[in-house]
Amino acid sequence: MIGDLLDLVWPRRCAVCGRPADRPGRHLCSECLNRIPFNPAKGLCSVCGRAVEGLEGEYLCDDCTGPDRPSFDRAVSAVRYEDAAREMIHGYKYAGQLWLRGDFADWLEGAVSARFDASAVDIVLPMPLTALHRLDRGYNQSGYLARELARRIGRAERGGILVRKGHPRRQAGLCEEDRRENAKGTFAVRHAEFVRGRTVLVVDDIMTTGATLSEAAKALKESGASRVWCATLARSIRA
Ligand SMILES: [Zn+2]
Ligand SMILES: [Zn+2]
Repeated sequence: MIGDLLDLVWPRRCAVCGRPADRPGRHLCSECLNRIPFNPAKGLCSVCGRAVEGLEGEYLCDDCTGPDRPSFDRAVSAVRYEDAAREMIHGYKYAGQLWLRGDFADWLEGAVSARFDASAVDIVLPMPLTALHRLDRGYNQSGYLARELARRIGRAERGGILVRKGHPRRQAGLCEEDRRENAKGTFAVRHAEFVRGRTVLVVDDIMTTGATLSEAAKALKESGASRVWCATLARSIRA
């Protein structure tokens, strides 16, 4: 109701085109929503959720069968990190446009429901910020997403269980091998009793090579998690 009142006083504008937003409580108009590059729910690698050209149905991609296969069991990304989706996520991540989280939770919820059995998730954990990012930004954008997603799928969410150790370099700008090296051993689990024998869903904003999520999954598995699933808002196509 407060939202309805606010809409009267200060009509929401579409975050992309600036025209009046025509969907209640959302900041993306239906026309722009139609142009968001959503990932398909089928025809992806069963583990990492990557689309491999020429392959259909359920399959495992080369990355998920090789020696460097990820430690998570499954990953899904709602959209491709392109065009309007990229603009919106960038604004959310770096310019504090936190009001976009309702729109993003729609995308995440859709992707999670399409690819996972959400009722099997025991606990939802946000990807923790690095100490550097925490200083820079002062908020954890993945934390808001994890909380909103957990509320929508009716599961518990907890911050402070999956934590960062040390001060790794930023992943942005590193090649795939360096990303893997840089991400190694950077996570710890506090209160392992929350993950032991559980199906854990880790939520992050952008997946690039999956190296960071894989390291997080490794730490969770070492603490006894039985399954680790990952959901990210967007997937960036690797360079
Ligand atoms: Zn629009
Ligand atoms: Zn794969």
